[in-house]
Amino acid sequence: MTEINLSLGSSSFNSPAPALQAAIDALQNNKTFYGPAEGTATLRQSIVDRYTQEGISIKPEQVLVTPGTKQALFNLLSILLQPGDEIIVPTPAWFGFHELIKYSPGKLVTLPTTASDNYSINEADLRKAITPKTRLILLTNPANPTGGLFSRTEIEAILRVLEEHPNVYFICDEIYDLYTYDSTFTSALACTGPQERVIVVNGFSKTFAMSGWRVGYIIAPEDVISKATAFQSGTYSGVSVFIQDAAEAAMRHRAEGLQMMLATLESRRQLTQEKLQAIPNIAFKLPEGAYYFFPDLSYYIGSTTTSGTTINSTADLCTYLQNEYKLVVANGDNFGGKGHVRISFAVEETELVEAMHRLKNALSKLTVREV
Ligand code: PMP
Repeated sequence: MTEINLSLGSSSFNSPAPALQAAIDALQNNKTFYGPAEGTATLRQSIVDRYTQEGISIKPEQVLVTPGTKQALFNLLSILLQPGDEIIVPTPAWFGFHELIKYSPGKLVTLPTTASDNYSINEADLRKAITPKTRLILLTNPANPTGGLFSRTEIEAILRVLEEHPNVYFICDEIYDLYTYDSTFTSALACTGPQERVIVVNGFSKTFAMSGWRVGYIIAPEDVISKATAFQSGTYSGVSVFIQDAAEAAMRHRAEGLQMMLATLESRRQLTQEKLQAIPNIAFKLPEGAYYFFPDLSYYIGSTTTSGTTINSTADLCTYLQNEYKLVVANGDNFGGKGHVRISFAVEETELVEAMHRLKNALSKLTVREV
């Protein structure tokens, strides 16, 4: 039995052909030297053009190209936080936020949300979570791991709270923005509110299938970008120019690949939904964006395997699936979703079908002590 890994954050798609060609051309043209710390003028312009086409007005001076979105976030945490500053993160949240915050001067403050409320953020709860030490509110839209989508109304509610706290910034990680299914996505940059404290991070890893190229960007007010550029200049210098050429080609040609990727993901989402519905005692929401399901398997915590081992935690359940069924899923506890697992559906269909078969089979073999 070969292992199937549904825990990864990258898709089975190839990087776009125009990106590959642009990188090859750039290398053949000896674009192998330092570039501008803020990013090439042409890539920044292509990012500006993309947002302009969506009715969002930004200037190239508001864009910093970074070596990945993680780096964009780390940069912001480094320049915006003082020791002890608090960062409010609605949970479940991408485990990467926790990791990044661990290496920053800031302190993570979680704001729990629930599946029964569709993981929406309660304005009153957010107000309560804010203290004089709060400096950032950070979330992903569309959300990883829940696949939820925050609507314009919900983002504007957050911005209303932000309006009352002039020292607080809102960072919206929109790395999955081009992957939404039934509803339309609204960028935080298009919302009404104190835009002088709204920051968007984005990148090419997910919706452009370019995770290994390490390229992302920050869109922020000019004063933030100039600080972030100084940080980048003093640390990473910037992104390789031939990679920026590739990213620019991907951005300019994005419509070509996107339609195919979305159609494929949509059918895999439906397939996964049908397969999960056929498994007893698990609850899940249909993702509206990104490419993850986040099913609740807590019914099976406390059960015993055929060899008599007790599944005491989500970690035990993940280990059981991996050891006995060669199925790797991400432990939801690491995202703040106890008893849940994150399942990517951005894998080949045959793998997905086999994975769902293994999951159903594995869970059916567990003996649950009814209470
Ligand atoms: N943000 C979110 C929400 C992610 O899911 C990921 C990747 N798993 C990243 C950022 C990291 O992106 P990058 O590869 O551009 O660093």
